[in-house]
Amino acid sequence: MDREQKGLAIVIRSMNIRENDRLLTLFSPSFGLVDIVSYGARKSIRTVKAPLYTEGNFSIEKGRRGWTLKDIDVISTHECIHDDLMRSQIAMLFSDLVITGRNADPALYTLYTDALDLLETEDAEKVAVEFIVHFLSGEGLSGDYCSCPVCGRGYGDGEILGFSSAEGVAVCHDCDTMDGALPLPPNARAYLRRSLEMGMRESMSLLVSEAQEHRIFRYLLRTLPYSFPGRLRSLEYGIWDSVQGMI
Ligand SMILES: [Zn+2]
Repeated sequence: MDREQKGLAIVIRSMNIRENDRLLTLFSPSFGLVDIVSYGARKSIRTVKAPLYTEGNFSIEKGRRGWTLKDIDVISTHECIHDDLMRSQIAMLFSDLVITGRNADPALYTLYTDALDLLETEDAEKVAVEFIVHFLSGEGLSGDYCSCPVCGRGYGDGEILGFSSAEGVAVCHDCDTMDGALPLPPNARAYLRRSLEMGMRESMSLLVSEAQEHRIFRYLLRTLPYSFPGRLRSLEYGIWDSVQGMI
């Protein structure tokens, strides 16, 4: 990369380092995933600040000690994500999936920033469901919920799907390796299939009861560690214990 980069990006992780500095992970459709240092970010002096989930046009510069933040033209701060524990935990999971998956594809940038925009106004569990299902599909880590990814058989209308722990995907009844421990009922499967046929933003208009949405949310959280090949540390802390406990 050049010594200076300018482009659209979003802060997807922010950690305190030393007394006053922060280490930011930027996700950019043009320069990918980059760790940069924001010097003096914790001081109240006039310095360029880029809080977590700030999206904008960033200028970063490479010095002897790595990339640093020079300037930012803010588009959105996604501030209200920080006001709610559930929203902030869900946004951390989204970041974790991007960082752990090491994918900086421009299509994923759109999915990620759309999901953060939606988190500000829409039901948090619904946004989580739509992000996870579109993310896994984009990474080639899920089936299409029309036919079994293991044996290829088309699902019957009333078929309850099982799960393959080896493949990390929902499968037909015959290919189930978990004795029905992770069942996916026909109406939930239809919802996920329709979601994948539509884009993430469009699928927010799919009508679903709160109880059904919650069941699908819990199903995806339970199956995610099987489906996603990396370790998701964001699922090991915070509110997820209580969410897992509800399953
Ligand atoms: Zn099968």
